[in-house]
Amino acid sequence: MNAAELHVQGVPVSRLAERYGTPLFVYDAEELHSVHHRLRELLHPAVDIFFSLKANPNISICAYLNSLGAGAELSSAVELLTARRAGVDPADMIFLGPGKTREELRACLDAGISAIVCESLAELRVLDGLAEETGRTGVPVLLRINPDFAGRGTGLTMGGKPRQFGIDAETLRGARTELAALRRIRVTGFHAYMGTRFLDPAHIVANTRQILDLAEELSRTLGIPLETVDIGGGLGVAYFDNEKDFDLGELTGGLNAAVEPFVRAHPGCRLITELGRYLTATAGRYVTRALYVKESMGETFVVADGGTNHIMPAVGIGGFVKRNFPIRSLSRYDAEPTHAYTVTGPLCTPSDVIAKRVALPAVEPGDLIGVERAGAYGPSASPGHFLSHGFPAEVLVHRGVPHLVRERDTAEDLLARQRLVDLDPDPDLDTARKRNGSA
Ligand SMILES: *Cc1c(COP(=O)(O)O)cnc(C)c1O
Repeated sequence: MNAAELHVQGVPVSRLAERYGTPLFVYDAEELHSVHHRLRELLHPAVDIFFSLKANPNISICAYLNSLGAGAELSSAVELLTARRAGVDPADMIFLGPGKTREELRACLDAGISAIVCESLAELRVLDGLAEETGRTGVPVLLRINPDFAGRGTGLTMGGKPRQFGIDAETLRGARTELAALRRIRVTGFHAYMGTRFLDPAHIVANTRQILDLAEELSRTLGIPLETVDIGGGLGVAYFDNEKDFDLGELTGGLNAAVEPFVRAHPGCRLITELGRYLTATAGRYVTRALYVKESMGETFVVADGGTNHIMPAVGIGGFVKRNFPIRSLSRYDAEPTHAYTVTGPLCTPSDVIAKRVALPAVEPGDLIGVERAGAYGPSASPGHFLSHGFPAEVLVHRGVPHLVRERDTAEDLLARQRLVDLDPDPDLDTARKRNGSA
């Protein structure tokens, strides 16, 4: 039987692999569009969708999501530059992160972005000083709150604990005088982010209500207008057998009900949800080629040409439990899984395992193996330089046409920034060797 291979918008995956080489990331623009479109249709119109570049900093992905209407949530100077070159309007950019350098703050001021999300009183003072040095006033700032409460439903708790992120709600309550002394900045609202990989709508809705309540309370206490409130995001997608995708209608129904009274009380307030994983995960696939199929002590291994060096989150980053991401034979996409394989990459470490004893159709060397739902936190969160393999090519398929959106690293790329220095033999070391009688 000749099993059928995967097609992406009509393009056979084998053709992509031949043309661009493996390993390879393949993004499907139809899926990016459909995820964004469904969310935009269902979500309250007062809530703007911002794309967190951290999840997938590819400039073409950023530009495409922006063309669909998504703003950009940025956390480094290079992400800012990426969004600018992608054509994102600075009015649809925010910049956050606990460790912004003066250069990054300066770049935000120069770009005139919608808001800098400040994460400490010390950062506010630095920014105020920079605004003064550069002759600016009214610099729009959101205060990131470290809430008193912990978000429910995420492995990665952000609130209710000592954190480097945001300003403790309690500190803010007592900071009215201090904030008033900052003459060059204008606080226009608040930001809170409760964590990532939320899959239960009830938790997301409950967290959002708490964030909106806290923003109202702090606004009253501090006399800060509510022009913008960023309610975070962290919407998850199911990766593992025991998980399931939430129902988007159920989620937006709950969110819209939470948002509606707030919007009525604060007409004109811009609400923002910042999403990385949800917008890009399902649109991406990591494509590797099986090099060898081998047995070891009763277990069958597929050794592929790519692994955790590009898809580290598949096995765990930030405390994920080690579980199998969805993995498929792309060469035999419609065939029944009949064998159990442990799929590994090329690294010289036993932890380079992208799936342990997964059910796949029979695999032969040369077959293409894919990690599904790999469009978020792939290259951006993986140790691509380990063993000097470098980062793979990335292809975005749009209307049936594949576009190379990132070239594969070449050996010259990888070596270009290293310097081979000519070191004179060390005379003292020579003397010491002779004294010790060694050659
Ligand atoms: C990482 C991060 C995001 C994106 O999170 P996802 O779970 O990928 O949507 C958004 N906001 C902040 C503050 C983050 O740290």
